[in-house]
Amino acid sequence: MTKIIEHLIGGKRIAGGTRMQPLYNPATGQSTRSVRLANKRTVEQAISAAQKAFPAWRGTIPSKRARVMSQLKILLEQNSDRLCQLITSEHGKVLKDSLGELQRGIENVEYASYAPELLKGEHSCNVGPGIDSWSEFQALGVAAGITPFNFPAMVPLWMWPMAVVCGNTFVLKPSEKDPSCAILIAELAHQAGLPPGVLNVVNGDKEAVDALLNDSRVKAISFVGATATAEYIYSTGCAHGKRVQALGGAKNHAVVMPDADIDQVTNSLIGAAYGSCGERCMAVSLVVAVGEATADALVVGLKKAIAKMKVGPGTDPTSDMGPLVTQQHYEKVKGYVDKGVAEGAVLVVDGRTLKIPGGGRGYFLGACVFDRVKPGMIIYQEEIFGPVLGVVRVKTLHEAMTLIDAHEYGNGTCIYTRDGEAARYFTDHIQVGMVGVNVPLPVPVSYHSFGGWKRSLFGDLHAYGPDSMRFYTKRKTIVQRWSSSGARESAVFSFPSNQ
Ligand code: NAD
Repeated sequence: MTKIIEHLIGGKRIAGGTRMQPLYNPATGQSTRSVRLANKRTVEQAISAAQKAFPAWRGTIPSKRARVMSQLKILLEQNSDRLCQLITSEHGKVLKDSLGELQRGIENVEYASYAPELLKGEHSCNVGPGIDSWSEFQALGVAAGITPFNFPAMVPLWMWPMAVVCGNTFVLKPSEKDPSCAILIAELAHQAGLPPGVLNVVNGDKEAVDALLNDSRVKAISFVGATATAEYIYSTGCAHGKRVQALGGAKNHAVVMPDADIDQVTNSLIGAAYGSCGERCMAVSLVVAVGEATADALVVGLKKAIAKMKVGPGTDPTSDMGPLVTQQHYEKVKGYVDKGVAEGAVLVVDGRTLKIPGGGRGYFLGACVFDRVKPGMIIYQEEIFGPVLGVVRVKTLHEAMTLIDAHEYGNGTCIYTRDGEAARYFTDHIQVGMVGVNVPLPVPVSYHSFGGWKRSLFGDLHAYGPDSMRFYTKRKTIVQRWSSSGARESAVFSFPSNQ
């Protein structure tokens, strides 16, 4: 019998909605389970549960809320094998990559357990005679999170742990492509002591998202996904008076300077381009080589490194890269490779011909490299989100930076060089939110915040870290006077000042 993934509302697994979507194991193409897609009524039920739980949770002392996160961290570590198996069975990424994402998520849970430190507020004595003033950060109410398929454990953990430790209650709508992990983590959170209703998980698609966007009880929405969806969520959420942060897509350029150590660069790039089958918003998808000799050496190095890469099921510990997430996504990525050839880019490594021994009907596509990619080509402009790397040839660092700045996305970028001056100029001036120097995936650690610029992020505050405390709270400033006994004041009609 097919297993059905339900919703978790008010601490209980609940069936809501009549539509179902089958889930396939990307390594075999076989249907393993189905997910139930919530309708408007189910989403409203989840919002009601969150709304009901809010007053008591807001009133729970912050250190008690934080202690739930300390306990959850232990449970996540104890259940990591089970969680990684679930991620790999639905997403396809290799098990060590599933573990990497889970560990990053656990770091966010750990950071959330320090939230009382961030929630302390700000205090000033004697802002006037006998007058003190302070600012405190109060919970918003019900917050919601909508997450993408590519990090089914980590991205939800960027959101709800900080939201709930700040005193909010939460409705999470994970990706319908790989929903199981979010449900299991929510159950572990309940085991860790989270009261029912504080975190609710609804599975679904656009219908569920629209119900969250249109409900006035939802005060804030965090979104991560493709730019077209991010823009829709941001504009609709804002039009309904919500606070919204919507992180979108990317096209990350790595600049390779002529002085870089090419062997080192190819080893580093290969993981950044093909890890998780290129399905990462921080994946390097374009290499901008400065100088013809740099480009020639890079292409030779990439070909050699790819020849040693092993593509296979994510559960095989010898695999470096697994399959793409769905048949539909496989067709889309392969379609981009066909387009690149038609546009005149030179396909120096063609992964379309890859055959996996015993690979069945899995969604495997081998690593692809295009040389002589030019701005204006579709494969330069659009996010492919697969194992496709393009090499662009330029003459100077200035030319490389002009290209990057002109691109619609500004999520991540990096420079490989031994020249400190070039690196410093690059980090200072480039119009991108996260920048690496000899680091291809400059993903901020949990105590910094994560976010791109330009059309990679709609909103003002970045995800997780210190920005997330600001996102999930509103500032209240209090001014208080206790006059010395007996002191009398005369009426004052001028605006109060400190003069
Ligand atoms: P997606 O936009 O298709 O889906 C993301 C979420 O939005 C899912 O929960 C989905 O159900 C919902 N959704 C999809 N279409 C919708 C619509 N029309 N209306 C309302 N809701 C909708 O993204 P995806 O394919 O799951 O994820 C891949 C994308 O996410 C890539 O573009 C990648 O760059 C991006 N991403 C960005 C970051 C970041 O931090 N910037 C991180 C991870 C992934």
